[in-house]
Amino acid sequence: MAIRIDGKAIAAAVRSDVAAEVAALKTQGIVPGLAVIIVGNDPASRTYVNNKKKACAEAGIYSEEFALPEDTTQEELLALVVSLNGRSDINGILCQLPLPPHIDDKAVIAAISPRKDVDAFHAANTGHIMIGDYTFLPCTPAGVMELLHRSGVKAEGKNCVVIGRSNIVGKPMAMLLLHENGTVTICHSRTKNLKEICAQADILVAAVGKPKFVTADMVKPGAVVIDVGMDRDENGKLCGDVDYAAVEPVAGYITPVPGGVGPMTIAMLLKNTVTAAKLQNALLTDSLGK
Ligand code: NAP
Repeated sequence: MAIRIDGKAIAAAVRSDVAAEVAALKTQGIVPGLAVIIVGNDPASRTYVNNKKKACAEAGIYSEEFALPEDTTQEELLALVVSLNGRSDINGILCQLPLPPHIDDKAVIAAISPRKDVDAFHAANTGHIMIGDYTFLPCTPAGVMELLHRSGVKAEGKNCVVIGRSNIVGKPMAMLLLHENGTVTICHSRTKNLKEICAQADILVAAVGKPKFVTADMVKPGAVVIDVGMDRDENGKLCGDVDYAAVEPVAGYITPVPGGVGPMTIAMLLKNTVTAAKLQNALLTDSLGK
């Protein structure tokens, strides 16, 4: 039976560390501030934004929501980002994705100041991640690394397989495992022999977006299995990319869904907001420039 990595408990520990840091910053007159932009009425986005605001409040972080109508133009959204870049009480800017199809999300991400880019999606930040000299890490892969660290799992020398190559999860996930000296393979929809490659993994990260995609025959006995997926099963119930019931008896460690990677994403967002506040108050140095 696998050891279940409890993302809820680890996220609570990270959030408590963040709250302590926020309290310390407040004694110096610094209140970390996060702007959360949401465009349109996507129910999942609304839930994510509400959860992020609640988590900010619990950690003592100031958050301000900008809920814009579905027909907001790209120019209007860019103007808002520019105005937030200029506000000293806002240290982090998060624009909830996906945006409506008439808005170019790349242009919006590019408009966010790299020093306020708490999602770490701006090319300046992704470039820094590539060279291993980073200030912000994207929240979900950073959350996975925190789960590994706090569970005593080391990537060094291990075969690490990441299924998925999105800019948000798969690619940065692979880079972080590489920076910790894992031997990393990235798989995607055109990968041949996926099953055989996965079955070689000591650490297997699934970021596919397909319910119960990873089956027991894809998992090496004793492997660490990290499930990033947030999917719906045939009954509409939340599940992951891993067939938990089938894989759990084979794996050495496994994250559940819910209660695994999901809670970590918000915890790491709070951490990035505190980092942004320190950066903008000259309490940290970095290579991002002004
Ligand atoms: P995405 O942009 O849709 O990327 C999915 C990746 O999976 C793509 O690289 C795709 O390959 C690959 N893929 C699809 N079908 C495949 C197959 N049959 N075999 C191998 N690879 C396949 O998704 P994402 O944004 O990375 O998200 C992935 C999952 O993580 C989703 O369930 C999402 O909801 C979840 N997620 C969770 C959190 C969290 O906080 N827990 C945060 C972000 C995302 P191609 O590139 O070849 O198309």
